[in-house]
Amino acid sequence: MDWFNRLVVKTMPIVPKPVVRRASQRYIAGAALADAVRVVRDLNQRGMMATLDILGEFISKREEATATATAYMQALDVIAKEKLNSNISIKLTAFGLKLNYDFCLENVGKVVQHARNLGNFVRLDMEDSSCTSDTIRIYQTLRKDFDNVGVVIQSYMRRALADIRSLMANGTPTNVRLCKGIYVEPRSIAYKNRELINKNFTFLLDELLRGGAYVGIATHDERLVWDGMRLVDQLKLPKDKYEFQMLLGVDEELRDVIVNAGHRLRIYVPFGKHWYAYSVRRLQENPQIAGYVIRKFFGMKE
Ligand SMILES: Cc1cc2nc3c(=O)[nH]c(=O)nc-3n(C[C@H](O)[C@H](O)[C@H](O)COP(=O)(O)OP(=O)(O)OC[C@H]3O[C@@H](n4cnc5c(N)ncnc54)[C@H](O)[C@@H]3O)c2cc1C
Repeated sequence: MDWFNRLVVKTMPIVPKPVVRRASQRYIAGAALADAVRVVRDLNQRGMMATLDILGEFISKREEATATATAYMQALDVIAKEKLNSNISIKLTAFGLKLNYDFCLENVGKVVQHARNLGNFVRLDMEDSSCTSDTIRIYQTLRKDFDNVGVVIQSYMRRALADIRSLMANGTPTNVRLCKGIYVEPRSIAYKNRELINKNFTFLLDELLRGGAYVGIATHDERLVWDGMRLVDQLKLPKDKYEFQMLLGVDEELRDVIVNAGHRLRIYVPFGKHWYAYSVRRLQENPQIAGYVIRKFFGMKE
């Protein structure tokens, strides 16, 4: 039934909103901060940590970027007030990266400062390749004054090894989330072969862990989870030197396997009023799930 899944993905933009909402419920906490709080509290009770992502869309004005910062600071306040075990993940384009570099740096700096005041942490998500150098530069600049900020490295990028070596140069303390990478990039700068992307993931993970970086091992690929578990065991790393990370709603069985094996796990919890665009992207990424959900919705046989 591969044709059905492919058809679902192709036609996703014309699928009625309520159908997409139903299909994406498992990936998104809801439209409001209160929804995210409920989901994070539940995850915490199951022994998992969280990171909050406020879903945003393309911005074109500085006021919108400032509003993003304000919304994240409110989220940090609520995390503190509700005593939740959660940090935040932010996208620099929503903080004005494409408007003005210095403005973006200042805007992000305010949130990182606010997080530090509350004893919390900010992860700079990695976006498409047009943002890679600036994101790393902003991370390195902030890291000079703050230790509560981390960045993301994508193993599909050919530059990834050079990037982590520059991050860790001279033993600089480094906090990295390692993932495969989600954007469509040209072969000239990114590996296209899945096996190679996986090999590079393990290779980079080895470099990072041996180099003393704190690593968020972000994957649902059980082979890479296995590599991660084997490496931390070999290196005899204490549990507070790394964590596994997964997206909300993806492979909950694997998530329990990781927690039951005694590792720390953080769940990425997206929420916000821009849930629709995010849902379409997620479902397009995973045709199998999209097909399954839509089939169920229309009462079709699997
Ligand atoms: C916590 C976290 C943060 C991330 N942050 C970033 C970032 O900042 N920048 C960036 O470019 N990418 C980010 N990603 C996405 C990442 O780069 C991958 O695209 C994504 O995780 C899929 O890769 P995978 O390692 O899970 O392996 P895959 O081989 O793609 O997937 C392994 C298995 O998991 C299932 N699966 C994977 N993703 C989904 C999904 N979305 N829905 C349902 N099932 C799924 C697949 O069906 C497959 O069976 C992040 C991922 C995670 C988990």
